Amino acid sequence: MPSRRAAMIDLRSDTVTQPSAEMRRAMESAAVGDDQFGEDPSVNRLQELVAGLLGKEAALFVPTGHMANQLALKLFTRPGDDVVVGRESHAVWHETGAAGANAGVQFTEVGGGGLFTADELVAAIKPRGHLVFPPTTLVEVENTHNRGGGLVFAADELERIGAAAREHGLASYLDGARLFNAAVARGDDPAALAAPFDLVAISLSKGLGAPVGSVLAGRAADIAALVRYRRMLGGAMRQAGVIAAAGIVAVERNVPRLADDHANARLVAETLSGSPHVLLDLDRVETNIVVLHLADGAPDAAAVVAAARERGVLVLPFGPRTIRAVTHLDVDRDACGEGADALVDAIASLAR
Ligand SMILES: *Cc1c(COP(=O)(O)O)cnc(C)c1O
Repeated sequence: MPSRRAAMIDLRSDTVTQPSAEMRRAMESAAVGDDQFGEDPSVNRLQELVAGLLGKEAALFVPTGHMANQLALKLFTRPGDDVVVGRESHAVWHETGAAGANAGVQFTEVGGGGLFTADELVAAIKPRGHLVFPPTTLVEVENTHNRGGGLVFAADELERIGAAAREHGLASYLDGARLFNAAVARGDDPAALAAPFDLVAISLSKGLGAPVGSVLAGRAADIAALVRYRRMLGGAMRQAGVIAAAGIVAVERNVPRLADDHANARLVAETLSGSPHVLLDLDRVETNIVVLHLADGAPDAAAVVAAARERGVLVLPFGPRTIRAVTHLDVDRDACGEGADALVDAIASLAR
């Protein structure tokens, strides 16, 4: 049997990170108040910090990125509306059908691999007031794109998408759960990436390493309206400064180091692409996510995941023949190298 390490190398997701000692200290000493009265100083500080970083008037702390996405739909759409998104969006695949259940919208997927252009958006827009069409009222961009393998939108395409949305009277929303990964990967200012959009969400609990939370940022009037919808969905909290304090540390400390995760993902991808049983386009590995496809003759994803686990490495099955590995601050470069080698070995051991 392959030897199992003392600690598993967990590459399933960047959500598995443990709060750092500094975060735990910040949580312990956080000043708190009742956030539903707007009186939690730590929540208020986090909101101001993120609004400033994203160049927006105001921000709102919410429990999850999933809720942030639901709130954006509530704010900008009516039941029966059409929302344009990239293919295999989080909104379509990973939110348990919430958009249909909560906001009552339908999605139109455009583009390829998660990315799309302003022209593809415009071609998909169904006008308001048409006899039979559902009106397109919102465009949602996911940057970086999770199922696409951490793909990054070019800043100028985001500007064109935002301009096209304004021209056609659509609201625009950026699901930027990993927006800071996109900014670090391309050397862009996060505020510039957020500027074309009416509303933006970032996650604190992915690569930034906080235990809980996402933040929405946008116009003050929109954020004020979102306070009601957040309560409607059950996301209004009380002394939430205890978790916001960890979010502040995450935003202040952990943005530049995302470059390490990207370099480690590159190492993982290069190692995997050396396997004859793996199909992987290295040009598409730009951030901390590696999505690999299993070649003919290789076992299926479930068998590979199980064999990798035997070798002390955890990865996620993403489809019958697709596996995702994600680098993050709790897996250092040596462990990433070891994990990739073990994954290659796991695949080879079962291939015909
Ligand atoms: C993880 C993720 C979310 C949801 O965040 P949770 O905090 O897990 O609910 C939304 N969008 C994208 C692109 C994500 O990767």
